[in-house]
Amino acid sequence: MDFRGKTVLITGASRGIGAECALEFARNGASAIVIGYHKSEDQALALEATLRDAGVNAMALRADVRSARQVAAMFQKANAAFGPVHILINNAGISRFGLFTDIGEEEWDEVMDTNCKGMYLCCKEALPHMISDKDGAIVNISSMWGQVGASCEVHYSASKAAVIGLTKALAKELGPSNVRVNCVAPGVIQTDMLANVAPDIQRELAEDTPLMRLGTPGDIAKTVCFLCAREAGFITGQVLGVNGGFVI
Ligand code: NAP
Repeated sequence: MDFRGKTVLITGASRGIGAECALEFARNGASAIVIGYHKSEDQALALEATLRDAGVNAMALRADVRSARQVAAMFQKANAAFGPVHILINNAGISRFGLFTDIGEEEWDEVMDTNCKGMYLCCKEALPHMISDKDGAIVNISSMWGQVGASCEVHYSASKAAVIGLTKALAKELGPSNVRVNCVAPGVIQTDMLANVAPDIQRELAEDTPLMRLGTPGDIAKTVCFLCAREAGFITGQVLGVNGGFVI
């Protein structure tokens, strides 16, 4: 894989899977990397410094992906610094747990807007350049729960299923413009998102996984990079499960 000459924008890159994607793109030669973040400014700036020390043009930019105005400002700043975005990784996301009957309207909107509307807003900003250049790659991060549904995570599952529908429809629309759109559906991955899952439940999840372990951010980041690479040039509209066999 060789991303020389490419500018990559990753949402939710301050921590977890998004941060590891930034490091993986850097390891594979990306020219410029935009670290999208919301609240974790210190972590985003530390990652920016790490990437710069490694000789990569990196910039941490704050934007709540639920806000059209903030997303537009992030793309304007990225464009001014590094030129158009060639690769967009829609990774920012939140999970919430609870019985369906207890989900309030505000929490429903928070999950849907962060996990799904944010992708719509980022794609809208990235696409004009990608379409006119007839070159671009987008990877959207869904979840295996978007494929099969999770009890007590109805809003999360619904938002992640929407990501799959968005990916497939957009891939069909953008194929003639040579813009590829794919989706990664992670299984259980060791990040801060698991903080609310008790250690014994995490052990059970690992035991229920055919490959007998939880996933790492690196498992996802390598897949994301592959889907954006020239080597995946005939792959679009696909949902790649990276879940150790948990969902087959
Ligand atoms: P994480 O460690 O909790 O990180 C979440 C990231 O999303 C953070 O960088 C956070 O930014 C960002 N974010 C949250 N709300 C945002 C908003 N409104 N605007 C902009 N950025 C926002 O989670 P993760 O495990 O790396 O998850 C990354 C993606 O993978 C998510 O879409 C998640 O649903 C998906 N996924 C994770 C797992 C898993 O087991 N970990 C499984 C399947 C799918 P700040 O910290 O700066 O606020």
